[in-house]
Amino acid sequence: MSHDFLRKPQSSSSRSTVRLGLHRVRARRRAGPKATLSDDAKHLAERLENAERTNKQLREAIDMLPQGVVVLDREGRYVLWNQQYADIYKRSADLFEIGVRLEDTLRIGVARGDYPEAKGREEQWIVERVKRLFQAKDRHEQWISDGRCILIDERLTSDGGVVGLRIDISELKEREASFRMLFEANPVPMFVVRKSDKGILSANAAALRHYGFTVEELSTKTLLDLHHPDDHAYLDNLYGGKAEEFAGQTWRHIKADQTSIDVAIYSSSITQGQTPAILFAAIDITERKAAEAKVAYLAHHDALTGLANRVFLRKRLDELLASRKRSGNGVAVLCIDLDNFKVINDSMGHAAGDSLLQQLTTRIQGSLRKDDIAARLGGDEFAVVLANANHAVEVSSVAQRIIDALREPFAIDDQAVNVTASVGIALCPSDGETAEALLKNADLALYQAKGDGKGCYRYFEAEMNVRVQARRKIESELHHAYMSGGLEIHYQPLVTLNSGEVSGFEALLRWPHSERGFIPPSEFIPIAEECGLIAPITDFVLHRACQDATTWPKKARLAVNMSPQRFRIGNVFQAVSEALKASGLEPERLELEITEALLLENSESVLSILHSIRSLGVRISMDDFGTGYSSLSYLRMFPFDKIKIDGSFVRGIGFGTESQAIIRAIMGLGSSLGMTITAEGIETESEQAFLRAVGCDEGQGFLYSKARPVGDVPLILDALNAAGIGAASGQF
Ligand code: C2E
Ligand code: MG
Ligand code: MG
Repeated sequence: MSHDFLRKPQSSSSRSTVRLGLHRVRARRRAGPKATLSDDAKHLAERLENAERTNKQLREAIDMLPQGVVVLDREGRYVLWNQQYADIYKRSADLFEIGVRLEDTLRIGVARGDYPEAKGREEQWIVERVKRLFQAKDRHEQWISDGRCILIDERLTSDGGVVGLRIDISELKEREASFRMLFEANPVPMFVVRKSDKGILSANAAALRHYGFTVEELSTKTLLDLHHPDDHAYLDNLYGGKAEEFAGQTWRHIKADQTSIDVAIYSSSITQGQTPAILFAAIDITERKAAEAKVAYLAHHDALTGLANRVFLRKRLDELLASRKRSGNGVAVLCIDLDNFKVINDSMGHAAGDSLLQQLTTRIQGSLRKDDIAARLGGDEFAVVLANANHAVEVSSVAQRIIDALREPFAIDDQAVNVTASVGIALCPSDGETAEALLKNADLALYQAKGDGKGCYRYFEAEMNVRVQARRKIESELHHAYMSGGLEIHYQPLVTLNSGEVSGFEALLRWPHSERGFIPPSEFIPIAEECGLIAPITDFVLHRACQDATTWPKKARLAVNMSPQRFRIGNVFQAVSEALKASGLEPERLELEITEALLLENSESVLSILHSIRSLGVRISMDDFGTGYSSLSYLRMFPFDKIKIDGSFVRGIGFGTESQAIIRAIMGLGSSLGMTITAEGIETESEQAFLRAVGCDEGQGFLYSKARPVGDVPLILDALNAAGIGAASGQF
């Protein structure tokens, strides 16, 4: 193709950079006729002048535009273009010339490789381009060889020519490209939605992957469709008229598989093509939210039982007390404590303890109404708040229900475990109007309940405070005494009434207290039972006393008292056999004294433990006989080796026939069942004489000796055995 007809545009030193087809007119004027101008000619000159001025103004105006501007005539020849136009197409600018056809400049440009889009289809590209030129209105993009992108906007003019605008949109294109890259490759699910109706225009790969929708499925959805159905009612609120401004709000979305996720939403306004749109990024925070919820839950709940913890109970109680001021309803706080949890935990292991706590939680909850709150305050301490506690009768019945529910045996490791619970109650407003006061007073009442024999409930009374403090003091002192070896075992002899000889000794615990002298076991054994010390103390007595007994003459037996509480804790058989093994004492020399209270529980396991201990050769005695309930039926339950008639009957012998009758009856029963009968608390000769006369086998009492330290045992033996029958003279 020849380029001959193309001339370089005239480079003008003038400011005007607009190339204009009026050059020829001007040239003609300069060479115009010298003859006097006719009017017509004058007129024409004026018009030319005007036209030239107008054109100049037009040139200046066009030059001021930021876009490239080009005007072509109906044949597509250059008429006018501004500098910006020449700058945009600077590689082809040398070809622009008035009267030159755009098509020809294109062809040269294409041949030079100025239009990369034309590569490989050059002629077709030119045809298409020229075709577009003469459409009424056209807008398209064009890439040129230096990598820039030009937006072409062309209109036909009334005379069939073309006015074209050129805008360099390279930067925009770059931004779009980086946006696309950021969008597409972003690991965060993203959606571009139409601003008007939230229709989804595009979604990135992460969104498709995470939500599980296909492109086609999403293309028919709006962002609103992704919301959890439960939130649809609040969508207006959610978007609140500012649909494009979200920064971290949490929404619930539904994935293709219908699972719900929590997403943090970030959004900003963009335009996609010509469409006003919003870019949404949805960060899945389901796991984080679940973890946060878990943390919040754990901060307020006890991990083992799922009950409210102390913090949460306080909070709920505070709220309840605040609302009580309006409603006037009564509130009751119940503190619940197991009477023997610590020992179960210590002896059966923590897993068993945990299982017990979980089971009893279910029972406590089963005893409550919907509005009541149950909480675990720690260890085996529980609390219950009754919301509408307007009648003491109702409160008492809830407390009793809880006590009864917990009294049923628990199954732990295939063992039936018995516990009892004590309950302390404080009422609002009478016992306090703050959470703190109510919890404290319910706790004091609980202490009282424990002191009153456990397994019961007590209401708070003002004077409990003093009593409880004294009680707490003695508990800690007992603990200290046990730990520091401050508990002593004394031995009281048992004497064969016929011969006057010592048949054995009963181990009786002594607590020498620095301020109070000897504290009697009747006072501190119940405390030990309550504060979890009974097992270690009993086992200490078993071990030490068995050890001591090995130094005595072979025919002297050893009697050890066993609290019913010790049986509840378990492992009694093991404790007994270990004590025997460790000391080497013959099992036949050991007697365990139990009381009716143990059999009262009517538990199979107690009887089987007794049988297994007995199978070792150890003897079992029924202590304090006659003081219990229906004593005779208990004698049928287990073949006791010995019955110890309680000292209260012996001391009554001299005052009437009633005690004598009872003793006679027991004697008859014992002999028919083949049991040894021992009388406790013999203090006088006449008591001894009566007992001997009715055939009582054995006696124990101050008449012979009080309980003495182990060092005195040989002396007692000497004194009593030497004295023989008529033992009063042998009193030690
Ligand atoms: P118990 O087993 O019936 O022990 C007999 C109690 O009667 C002892 O009281 C003893 O000192 C007292 N006693 C003996 N002879 C006479 C007498 O002639 N006149 C009077 N008035 N009392 C006499 P102690 O030592 O105060 O023990 C009281 C209770 O404490 C015991 O009654 C027993 O149930 C319990 N106990 C003592 N040591 C232990 C122990 O190591 N473990 C357990 N679980 N309980 C123990
Ligand atoms: Mg006893
Ligand atoms: Mg007794």
